[in-house]
Amino acid sequence: MATSDSKPSKLLPPKKYAALPIDFLIIGGGIAGLSSAIALTRVGHRVTLIERDATVDHETGGCRMTPNLSKILYHWGLEKDVRRIGVKSTGIDLQLYETGERLGTHMWDYEMLSETRGEFIFTRHADLRKLLYDVAVANGAKVRLGTEVTGVDTEERRVKLSTGEVLTGDVIVGADGVKGLCRPMVLEEGVDDAPNHRYNYYASIVPRSIIAQDSALGCYITEEDELQKRLYCWFGHERCALTHPVAEQDTDWALLAYGLPNVALKQKFRIQKLSKLSNQPPVCVPVLEYPELEEWVHDSGRLIVLGDAAHPMTPGGIQAAAMALEDGAVLAKLFSHIRTSDQIPTLLYAYQDLRQPHVRRVQQKDLSDLYFQCTPPGEVQQGSDDFMRAQRDAGRSPLAPAGADEEELPEWTEIKDVFGYDAEDDADNWWVEWGLLRERARGTDVKLGFVEPIAIRQGRMSVSEAATVS
Ligand SMILES: Cc1cc2nc3c(=O)[nH]c(=O)nc-3n(C[C@H](O)[C@H](O)[C@H](O)COP(=O)(O)OP(=O)(O)OC[C@H]3O[C@@H](n4cnc5c(N)ncnc54)[C@H](O)[C@@H]3O)c2cc1C
Repeated sequence: MATSDSKPSKLLPPKKYAALPIDFLIIGGGIAGLSSAIALTRVGHRVTLIERDATVDHETGGCRMTPNLSKILYHWGLEKDVRRIGVKSTGIDLQLYETGERLGTHMWDYEMLSETRGEFIFTRHADLRKLLYDVAVANGAKVRLGTEVTGVDTEERRVKLSTGEVLTGDVIVGADGVKGLCRPMVLEEGVDDAPNHRYNYYASIVPRSIIAQDSALGCYITEEDELQKRLYCWFGHERCALTHPVAEQDTDWALLAYGLPNVALKQKFRIQKLSKLSNQPPVCVPVLEYPELEEWVHDSGRLIVLGDAAHPMTPGGIQAAAMALEDGAVLAKLFSHIRTSDQIPTLLYAYQDLRQPHVRRVQQKDLSDLYFQCTPPGEVQQGSDDFMRAQRDAGRSPLAPAGADEEELPEWTEIKDVFGYDAEDDADNWWVEWGLLRERARGTDVKLGFVEPIAIRQGRMSVSEAATVS
């Protein structure tokens, strides 16, 4: 683990502070809840976050911070901290699970990555969560660990805690995951339709030497590979496995695998031996494909769901943490424009409108990547393996176009689009295109970047009086 006593960097100031600071109650201290706490306190709001877990740094598995995630942390001034907890990825190495045949390597194009203004970094999930926790607390969020929310009253904007206390806020943020209290509150029928369950997900942190030395385990890495800082991916028949380093100079690597749930683990993976040799049993989570949630905002206009509570991602998927962090960043960008409390529902619905289409696309991509990596034996699998073999034999990347005149593969274009996406810019654009129009329609004298009520300008009201108008 990265040293937990390192002090986090001070956050860079935002472009805009909220004219009306309000109280947010956040339920859940995963990636979504903690990043919302940072982003909202950064623009001047008061945040109380309630997390059931007593600690935020218990070891689970690895985490891939894609450029669309890391760029947000860099905007906030946390570049040094990200480097401390992670290691920069250089590319992806593809192999076949059943035979160990190498299908090639795709090295990241640094020019393309620098255009995204982010980096592709490997870390541990626990280290990212601990970093976000430290930053949130240092920035003034009140974080209550080891406390459970047992009830939510949206009309009175109250949450009840396991301690018997009741807290009141202006906005309740449900960042309590797919099994939390808040998702059923925004579901039309109060329960999800039965999700599809094809694969299970297994995750562990394993000494690198075990993966590297034991070819009989099914995932073989040479000594040279150990120095490469790549993601190693084994495509199998109804199963796949991935491994990557988690930090500079760290002898442990993250190992994750997917397989059919009804097949005994030992038949599914020779790599099960790996987890026996590591200090902890692997985490096992079903990959459940939920129907899309139509509304992320409760009818009261005072409760919002975000992260996995709103849009459950493929566990261990490349964009799971990124979508949760982007959610928090967008919410705070929108609420940096709040001036009166009657704007709250509008800003919450703006968040939903902005995030839903983007997340839907990324969710589908993460899931289709998993199905691709686990393609059952047959024509499709054979065709894909043959394409990558031909690419390898021609000295090309498996993700490159098949010839000089060929177009870029659509899969690769999509990856680049998601890496290049800037969630905070999108929220700024929403404000310029729609938010300002709405303010003008309300009779507000609007200037770009600063919204000043006409009453203040004409001397009829002070700024603090205006802030209490609802
Ligand atoms: C413990 C844990 C370990 C994980 N490990 C990995 C990993 O190694 N690699 C990876 O890629 N992804 C991991 N994930 C999943 C990943 O974090 C999510 O898919 C994604 O980042 C979305 O995060 P989230 O914050 O929306 O949801 P979650 O990560 O599910 O967080 C929800 C949080 O809400 C808390 N909570 C729920 N109900 C209540 C309540 N009533 N009161 C108070 N608190 C409540 C939960 O304890 C949890 O911390 C893990 C998730 C969890 C919960």
